Amino acid sequence: TNFTDLNLSEPLLRALTAEGYEKPTPIQAQSIPSLLAGRDLLGIAQTGTGKTAAFALPILQKLAAHPERAQRGTCRALILSPTRELAAQIGESFRVYGKFLKVTRAVVFGGVSLNKQVDILRGGVDVVVATPGRLVDLIERKALTLSKVEIFVLDEVDQMLDLGFIHAIRKITGMLPAQRQNLFFSATMPKEISGLANNLLTDPVRVEV
Ligand code: AMP
Repeated sequence: TNFTDLNLSEPLLRALTAEGYEKPTPIQAQSIPSLLAGRDLLGIAQTGTGKTAAFALPILQKLAAHPERAQRGTCRALILSPTRELAAQIGESFRVYGKFLKVTRAVVFGGVSLNKQVDILRGGVDVVVATPGRLVDLIERKALTLSKVEIFVLDEVDQMLDLGFIHAIRKITGMLPAQRQNLFFSATMPKEISGLANNLLTDPVRVEV
């Protein structure tokens, strides 16, 4: 499989070429067409498999296809990540793959001043990458509402649960609109995690790499 077989748009293909990517990884080849078609996804994959591009590329393509900017205090795609390091990496991936598109993004995590993050989110950004605790803080401060989220990603769910984020995750998922696309990634799939996945996902494509 080549990237050109996956229905990706020209600006994304150009960014991938610029990055020196030659071929999609297995999770990319197996996920991208279904995600572009709007399906939910259950991905069982570790870091290093190329899972970030597997979700970032279709999200960028879908948002750019309907290029109305996010309204004030809203976002169109929300990605939850367990740690600030991973959140920053995901944000950087959106920057790199989206460099020929006009899709805006913000990365928000704890341990740094809230005020700047509040200002950025109030302006409206297309893609928000966040750690769960800080996101709940920002929602409670009315910097962001989740009513316009079209695509929701939970990344490294096993790590998020190990870090005690289940309560924040439940709070966040309870505020999402009913009509949305959901992506769920975990390296392991014990019963509690598959239960959470079953609650969140509708008829998901399952990809295990
Ligand atoms: P991830 O699993 O998303 O953390 O990605 C692992 C690493 O693989 C990152 O440094 C990516 O830049 C790189 N990568 C992702 N997809 C590809 C690809 N198709 N070809 C070459 N490198 C890739």
